[in-house]
Amino acid sequence: MREKAIASAARIESEQQFEAALRPRRLADFTGQPKLKENLAIAIEAACKRSEAMDHVLLYGPPGLGKTTLAHIIANELGVPVDVTSGPVLQKKLDLTGMLSNIRPRQAFFVDEIHRLLPDVEEMFYSALEDFRVDIVVGAGPGARTHSLPIPHFTAIGATTRMGMISGPMRGRFGLLLRLNHYDVAELRSIVERSARLLEVEIDGPGTEEIAQRSRGTPRIANRLLRRVRDYAQVRAGGHINLEVARTALDMLEVDRYGLDETDQKIMLTILEKYSGGPVGLNTIAASVDEEPDTIEEVYEPYLMQLGFLDRTPRGRRATDLAFRYFGVDRGNGSAQSSLFE
Ligand code: ADP
Repeated sequence: MREKAIASAARIESEQQFEAALRPRRLADFTGQPKLKENLAIAIEAACKRSEAMDHVLLYGPPGLGKTTLAHIIANELGVPVDVTSGPVLQKKLDLTGMLSNIRPRQAFFVDEIHRLLPDVEEMFYSALEDFRVDIVVGAGPGARTHSLPIPHFTAIGATTRMGMISGPMRGRFGLLLRLNHYDVAELRSIVERSARLLEVEIDGPGTEEIAQRSRGTPRIANRLLRRVRDYAQVRAGGHINLEVARTALDMLEVDRYGLDETDQKIMLTILEKYSGGPVGLNTIAASVDEEPDTIEEVYEPYLMQLGFLDRTPRGRRATDLAFRYFGVDRGNGSAQSSLFE
């Protein structure tokens, strides 16, 4: 048991080191998201010209699309340090006060999973974001007093996968709201090429394309698949990745042709088989696949819609003809002709 825990901790650590090693450090090296980059570049340049802190930024979008990477890039481009924390870590007001009272002028303050701040911590964060003040309690018991102390102007960077869970007042305190979308195959190809270069992996064009196709529109997945395929290539194919090597390795890992994961597949099969293609309501789908409706809407559906498998209609979600074909489900009786995912 203990050994297992140690092994999995080591795996997480090496996964994190691996991700950190592949993180682009400048905005120019960040692939894709052209509109977002343009907005950020302007905000960064304006702040630098005025020698002021930049507006607070809220980054939102599904996991693995580059929110943490961008937070570090912003700090880097502004030439300031960044303190990193997250909603679940900031459990008490005191945790937040401690970090904010040490903040330096213009620095960046990154709060990952900001939708998970507890209400009283969130409320306290408001006055830091808006008025650049923190409340400090001096003394204890009935004689305790709260002092509101000024702190230097800083740039908060919030990240969330769940924009729907961010309260109106919180949203209103961020000057820049930037959405990250799934990447297209060409963008993922250039991410895989760059990572392969950094990892000194030999890979040809078709091999790169195959990994890009199966990455679920997500750079984090592209990098992970590259790593797995590299391992396979080193052991079985003399270290070189071409189309055949990539295909064999990814098939062995049971990676779907479009990179769909288990939940994506469950969602689609629920709509296709149980509800004959829809329309079916979000809450019904959520209950069938045992996920939160918000998570389905904000994390899973965007990619399924980008692939052209799913339409959102006023009466509910509807599977497209393409989805029927891909999953091999007959429109008439809703049963799969051949199960792709056994
Ligand atoms: P998030 O915080 O949104 O979950 P991360 O910023 O941790 O995602 O990104 C996950 C991995 O994907 C990182 O290792 C990073 O190198 C890579 N990555 C993300 N976006 C890009 C991009 N636009 N260009 C290159 N690599 C990227």
